[in-house]
Amino acid sequence: MSISQFNQQDLSSWGVHIDEIPPEGLTVDFENFFADIEGVRLVEPLRGKIRLKKLGYEVEAKGFIKGKLELTCDRCLDSFEFSIDEEFQVTLLPRKSLNIEGERELDSQELEVSFYDESFISFYNIIIEEIELVIPFRKLCSSSCKGLCPVCGTNLNRESCGCKVIKKPSPFAVLKDLFKQAESKIAKEG
Ligand SMILES: [Zn+2]
Ligand SMILES: [Zn+2]
Repeated sequence: MSISQFNQQDLSSWGVHIDEIPPEGLTVDFENFFADIEGVRLVEPLRGKIRLKKLGYEVEAKGFIKGKLELTCDRCLDSFEFSIDEEFQVTLLPRKSLNIEGERELDSQELEVSFYDESFISFYNIIIEEIELVIPFRKLCSSSCKGLCPVCGTNLNRESCGCKVIKKPSPFAVLKDLFKQAESKIAKEG
């Protein structure tokens, strides 16, 4: 199955019923994938592959996603490009199994787990969840990003300002001082 045209209205229904997955599995190649994802802008459409394999009521989804996103830096609020080139493997369980088995014990060795509803495997959901996993918790345009001046808001990566920023002593510096005091006291008392 190969898909290159996406109708935005139909994205949520893009998927397959679990009974439609043949015993040998099902492979979907996609390209030109564009979707509205919260807090994310796609610079380039995504492409990739999803391979589904049925193991009883569990479905294993494997594949890769490639593309480019635009994210906003947490420190300087500038947007920056973020490339995705990600292989994934996720086990999909029927959401109902949660109720049947109560709290299914997910051992930490187990790979990523997600859920499907009404016997329907949504390719859209698989892609969105993978993208959300790939986006770093701390989004930085560069590890050396200087951020914004807390006084005047100047982007310190581009220019400097004359603001005096009074730094609060870090808790570590305070601890260090305490150690020093204790050391000198011990030294004095011999
Ligand atoms: Zn930044
Ligand atoms: Zn400033």
